[in-house]
Amino acid sequence: MAQKKIALACSECGSRNYTIAANPARQERLEVKKFCKYCNKHTLHRETR
Ligand SMILES: [Zn+2]
Repeated sequence: MAQKKIALACSECGSRNYTIAANPARQERLEVKKFCKYCNKHTLHRETR
């Protein structure tokens, strides 16, 4: 099973704060609420490509 490293970027400041391993075959774009240390709060993080 191929897994791909995907970076999650804060939707507010654009910082890539997290990397996760996800299946590249999935269709939907990942959106996760995570803590951004630059915004100093929880923001929506989206996968980058
Ligand atoms: Zn941020």
